[in-house]
Amino acid sequence: MDDVDAFRARVRAWLADRYPLRDPDLDDDRVDIIARAPNGHEAMISGAVTLQRDLYAAGFIGLGLPVAYGGHGLPRAYDAIVAEELSRVDCPSLRPLSIGMGLALPTILGAASEEQKRRFGPALISGQEVWCQLFSEPDAGSDLVSLRTRAVPDGDSWVVSGQKVWSSLAADASFGMLLACTDPDAAKPQAGITMFILPMDRPGVTVRPLVDIAGGHHFNEVFLQDVVLDASDVMGEVNRGWQIANGTLTGERSNYVGGSGSGRRRRQAERAMRLAGKRVDPAARQRVVDVMARERMLEMLVGRIGAGSVLGGNSAVGSLVKLAAGTLEQVAAEVVIDASGMSGIAWASDDRQGDLAAHGLHASRQATIAGGTHQIQRNLIGERLLGLPREPRA
Ligand SMILES: Cc1cc2nc3c(=O)[nH]c(=O)nc-3n(C[C@H](O)[C@H](O)[C@H](O)COP(=O)(O)OP(=O)(O)OC[C@H]3O[C@@H](n4cnc5c(N)ncnc54)[C@H](O)[C@@H]3O)c2cc1C
Repeated sequence: MDDVDAFRARVRAWLADRYPLRDPDLDDDRVDIIARAPNGHEAMISGAVTLQRDLYAAGFIGLGLPVAYGGHGLPRAYDAIVAEELSRVDCPSLRPLSIGMGLALPTILGAASEEQKRRFGPALISGQEVWCQLFSEPDAGSDLVSLRTRAVPDGDSWVVSGQKVWSSLAADASFGMLLACTDPDAAKPQAGITMFILPMDRPGVTVRPLVDIAGGHHFNEVFLQDVVLDASDVMGEVNRGWQIANGTLTGERSNYVGGSGSGRRRRQAERAMRLAGKRVDPAARQRVVDVMARERMLEMLVGRIGAGSVLGGNSAVGSLVKLAAGTLEQVAAEVVIDASGMSGIAWASDDRQGDLAAHGLHASRQATIAGGTHQIQRNLIGERLLGLPREPRA
């Protein structure tokens, strides 16, 4: 393999053949405008899948992952180079596939059998299969351990019934990470939960899309009625799914920064102030600097955690990152909407900035809920990092 500079040059040339350079005046969140257009969700997913497949064919994805599971076995720095080069050009966003690459893949590589790793790793990295996460239920979100979806043994098989909700990309996915109760009599409820790999086309699986406040339909309800799964669909050991799910959630919270960092929020706040003619307004500048400082602190926190220089191995690090990133999302969205003035409240159909500001504000509300609410993150930080007494349980 090339050294990093030669590799960067090769990636840059490959991208230059396919995409124009990104116009710095275009908002990073333009992908969300695409998603809201008629059939926009489908266009967003197919754009992401096509790009992922092309990158895989060119040898530009999964660089830091093991060769046996579809990767290249190189240092992680090579993946970072590809991400940086992608951010320079006007290409589809890979963000819609982050559940697969960011959650399912690490979970599979960490907890699945060797056979499952070899089966699912390459298909996921190469963009052949989209994944979703089937954890939350109508009465089990923060209190996930009280989930009611049941998997009942039937010879060598399991028969699964229940309902999941808020399942992002379930309508697009080939597979889902499914949490189900396999031992309702376990001494502690978490000791009776198993993680399954659910093929979404299995008879008995019904997916119904939900439309969110920002007009998108990326999440869904999933109904499971007498769905038959095989022993080979269990990930890890039976009744050990809670430990696996906690690893997935820690990863989800730590990765939450993915959408927040890289100067995205700073760029949005600056752009909004510039378009509103407020670049020299001291109060406006102070608010932009607040966004910049929060973003920088978040990047430094993530850098220190990644380098192992802080909070080594504590599962509440994900909560810390999630809390900082989710708060940044909302602070920045409020700066943008305030700068946009009236157009953020009522915008003409061709007013891109008003559209982005209003929808950005709506969408930022998700940031305090997805991946576990901020109240729950504060509880976890209090109990696991600060050593405060445990929250009283019912
Ligand atoms: C954009 C988005 C995408 C999502 N994608 C997925 C997905 O792909 N897969 C999936 O499985 N789930 C997904 N979710 C669901 C998400 O994980 C849950 O919404 C979240 O965990 C909260 O659960 P809940 O909605 O049931 O709220 P509840 O748990 O009912 O909470 C309601 C309120 O009570 C508060 N609360 C609850 N318990 C406590 C406590 N002990 N202490 C203090 N306050 C408390 C909460 O903070 C919240 O404010 C997604 C959610 C969003 C918003």
